[in-house]
This record gives sequence, C-alpha cells and structure tokens, in this order.
Amino acid sequence: MQTSIIPIFIPHIGCPHRCVFCNQWQITGHQGLPSPDEVRRLIASYTASARTPRHWEVAFYGGSFTAMPGEVQEGLLQPAYEALEAGTIAAIRCSTRPDCITPEILQRLQQYGMTCVELGVQSMDDTVLEQARRG
Ligand code: SF4
Repeated sequence: MQTSIIPIFIPHIGCPHRCVFCNQWQITGHQGLPSPDEVRRLIASYTASARTPRHWEVAFYGGSFTAMPGEVQEGLLQPAYEALEAGTIAAIRCSTRPDCITPEILQRLQQYGMTCVELGVQSMDDTVLEQARRG
C-alpha cells in the first residue's frame, strides 16, 4: 500500500535558535502554530481526498516539535492519536533537534502513538554548528 504523508507544519516553533541555512516560513509557506482543530481538519481533508487506500502518516514538520511546551505538543498530538485509534491514519512522526529529546519526552510521544522521530543532525563539528548559529 502506498505511504502518504499528511504534513502538519509548525514553522520554527520550538526552535531555540534560528539556524542560518533554514527559513521554514519560506520552505513550508506557513506561519504560526496550527490549532488542534486545524490538525483534525487536515487529517480529514487528506484522507478523504484519496481514491485508493493509503498508509497515512501524520508528520509534524518545520520546527522543533519536542522543544515546544508539553501541553502544546499534547494538544497537537491528541487529534492525530484519535485518528490513529480510529484507523484513519497508520502512523505519527515528527522532526526535532537531537538536544531536545529526553526519556520523558519520548515517553509522552509514545503515549500518543508516535513511532518515528526524525533527528536533524546537521554537523558533528562544533565550529560548523556555531557558525551556522545552531546552538
Ligand atoms: S532547529 Fe531545525 S527547524 Fe529550527 S531553525 Fe534550525 S534547522 Fe530550522
């Protein structure tokens, strides 16, 4: 079955720094944080548009998901989790920074059914990271 992503953009939300090479407002064409209702609407709209069954994955992209306040993460995860429980989608994923992951954060993500966390590791060289203003 074909896998399709339902992108939920959180442009630069949670990012503790603005990396010089990254402009998520331009890349995603979105500004600001979506509401839980918007997440619900996006899931319904994407899944209703397909003519054939798909392996749908909700993906929180464009910012540092796990660096947002816990209640904000949970607010966005709740509608995705409901869709997962209902069988409307098959998976939930997010992208974040390697320094914004702790065992507690992973536990929260797991509680909401997330199975994939994409870690942006742009460089292992501190000088490069410093010059990229990545923190
Ligand atoms: S942390 Fe990631 S999303 Fe945020 S500015 Fe840097 S590269 Fe972009």
